[in-house]
Amino acid sequence: MATRQEAREAREAKLDELHERLTGAVERLVSGPDWARALAFAARFRSRSFNNATLIWLQHMEAFEAGRVSEPFPSYVAGYKQWQQLGRQVEKGQPGYQILAPVTGRFASANPADADSWRRLGKGEKPRPGEVVRSKMVGVRPAYVWDASQTSGDPIPEPPAPRLLEGEAPAGLWDGLAAQVEAAGFAVLRVPHEGMIHGANGMTDYTANTVAVRENMDPAAQVKTLAHELGHVLLHGPDAEEARQHRGIGEVEAESVALMIGAAHGMDTSGYTIPYVSTWAARVDGREPVEVVKATGERVRKTALAILDQLDTEQIGDGTPPGLDRDAARREAPAHARSAAEPAAPRRVASLPEPGARPVAVPAFEGRGL
Ligand SMILES: [Zn+2]
Repeated sequence: MATRQEAREAREAKLDELHERLTGAVERLVSGPDWARALAFAARFRSRSFNNATLIWLQHMEAFEAGRVSEPFPSYVAGYKQWQQLGRQVEKGQPGYQILAPVTGRFASANPADADSWRRLGKGEKPRPGEVVRSKMVGVRPAYVWDASQTSGDPIPEPPAPRLLEGEAPAGLWDGLAAQVEAAGFAVLRVPHEGMIHGANGMTDYTANTVAVRENMDPAAQVKTLAHELGHVLLHGPDAEEARQHRGIGEVEAESVALMIGAAHGMDTSGYTIPYVSTWAARVDGREPVEVVKATGERVRKTALAILDQLDTEQIGDGTPPGLDRDAARREAPAHARSAAEPAAPRRVASLPEPGARPVAVPAFEGRGL
């Protein structure tokens, strides 16, 4: 009989193994094209954390290579009992994909503003009169999910998937993004050509509080540029020094947000180039590149998710089977992207033209799994 100690050690060994796999996967993702592919996949599984989306992707790929699943990309994942709730059963011999599930604890305090005053409540323990109770994540544990293709039973309702012609922008996306730029206090300007914004496709000016996008591109490229600038508006401050130091990271983050927004609307992402991820990740002092990349992936996902949540547009699925009420998915999502934004820094500078025009190819969505 396994003792409690042995069970804990087994769980910790499993967690170590999971973290190792994740680190290995992220290390392989840091070259340009792979990073774009990983983000497009994360957009398809945006209800899961970036780490968990990566773990699901990795294990599904292994299952596909081993011939256990028929499709190279997963569609919807859920837990064993969640599939049963939807009238489906995990097929015999299909191992689940290990992911990291949050472990939460309950904390109580009579003085919530004082960070040191919080004490963890024991199992079933009630707070004292006048105390406030909050749940907080205290760790992770391994959990299992299965892809739809590993289950059988009731059909899964397929929501309509957005389909786009070449160069076409998703319906309502420009207006929805523009409203969010304006809500952040920036005016949206359309300029006739790149000559007016330093040869760029778009430009965020933190002094004038404007976001400009050139009009002499197809609508898909314009809306992608607006999403990129909204990424800057929500994630980056006007601080000139910070901008100089982290320009590379800032551009990768903004372009990654734009990619996830586009992917969630069925736009083809093969035209995105997100260069030098490994180069900038190696330059952040005191942090392992792989940690920087993981943190960036999650920061980007949270921002994209907050933007997507406020849009009234037709979007592709988020990795959770239609009809499943997965409270955890909501808990993973931030209430609003501004929580991830820079604190208001002194408005010293600076207009940041995009570095050169990127190759913009937005052919029709082919319905690929990515
Ligand atoms: Zn930019």
